[in-house]
Amino acid sequence: MDNTDSIHGHEYFDEDTGSFIPPIFLSSMFEQRGIAKKSERGVDLKYSREENPTVIYLERVISKLEGAEDSLCFNSGMAGISTVYFNTLRSGDNLVITSEAYGTSIKLAEDLAKFGVHVKKAYPSADGVLSQIDSETKIVFIEVMTNPTLKVIDIEKISEKTRKSGIQLIVDNTFLSPYNFKPLSYGADISVESLTKYISGHNDVIGGSISGDKNKILDLWEWRRKLGTILNPFSAYLTLRGVKTLGIRMERHQANALKVARYLTSNSRVADVLYPGLENNEYHDLAKKMFRGFGGVVSFRIKGGRKESLRVLKSLRLIRPSPSLGGTESTMTYPVLSASSSINENDRNKLGITDSLLRLSVGMEDVEDIISDLENALSKI
Ligand code: PLP
Repeated sequence: MDNTDSIHGHEYFDEDTGSFIPPIFLSSMFEQRGIAKKSERGVDLKYSREENPTVIYLERVISKLEGAEDSLCFNSGMAGISTVYFNTLRSGDNLVITSEAYGTSIKLAEDLAKFGVHVKKAYPSADGVLSQIDSETKIVFIEVMTNPTLKVIDIEKISEKTRKSGIQLIVDNTFLSPYNFKPLSYGADISVESLTKYISGHNDVIGGSISGDKNKILDLWEWRRKLGTILNPFSAYLTLRGVKTLGIRMERHQANALKVARYLTSNSRVADVLYPGLENNEYHDLAKKMFRGFGGVVSFRIKGGRKESLRVLKSLRLIRPSPSLGGTESTMTYPVLSASSSINENDRNKLGITDSLLRLSVGMEDVEDIISDLENALSKI
């Protein structure tokens, strides 16, 4: 079960000392007398750019949480995503990606044009994605809960098609975390996480993971080795420490988020609140069916434009105006100038990523303090 796996899933125990807390293996290399020791995935444990024990302990935990045969950890979420792109795509292939996704995932895909890979952008819905798939499609890349307007995509309608057509369905699950949603059990081939967010959880780690079946992961391991994108042992240790409380943190994040979303709905300076946990949200029923919880991100549109949005950001005292999400500290971003800035303006308008949209990652502080900070900042409009 998830909470137990988060704590014990590394399976580390040292017979010599009785320690059951995985240590940080800082060794860059391991002794080889003729042949190297093999790691459990059957590859040589000889050099930490390829394989490292602390990273392996974390990969065991991630695999259990994702319900995956195997997982790899990377030095960022983007390192995981780029390793998957490089491994899977060849010249002439096309990749279907939702037009609302983490901006850098879209930008990187577009930049693969110079290697002959074509990108087809799809409206973030099952129908939008299905309409873009053709005979050259090799990868479909989606976020089941989108960033930053929190649309929810009915993944089963997509995985039914990708399974039949031999297309790799890759899901960036960062906003939900494997505590709330397990993409592989809904037909995804690979689940990607930015460990930077909920999984490490304390705004002090940059990391990523990918999870899937054993053979695919072994293939990707070879690319991680060549690209040199493995997670460093210290960040693996911090993530092992952080992930122990993933469940309890998610519950707190989402309980706070629901209260904040309800408060924002009642504030006269707020035009619109986007949170699937609200009963009147258009995605509420689908989200309730698929997810254990609705996550800790709440987006909202204020009554006003760019000037007023920036004034709200500047007036915050407790909530940090900064990118990223999923940590103990509440943070707020202005998507048109941050994560969504690389999405072109036309797409942004179609998606509702407007000048009045703010994205709040609700942290674990006392919710009354978060609400009072919002009340004060919104009063400055
Ligand atoms: N996916 C999502 C949804 C993100 O929000 C981010 C970063 O903000 C990433 C992937 C990339 O992760 P990282 O910053 O760890 O490379």
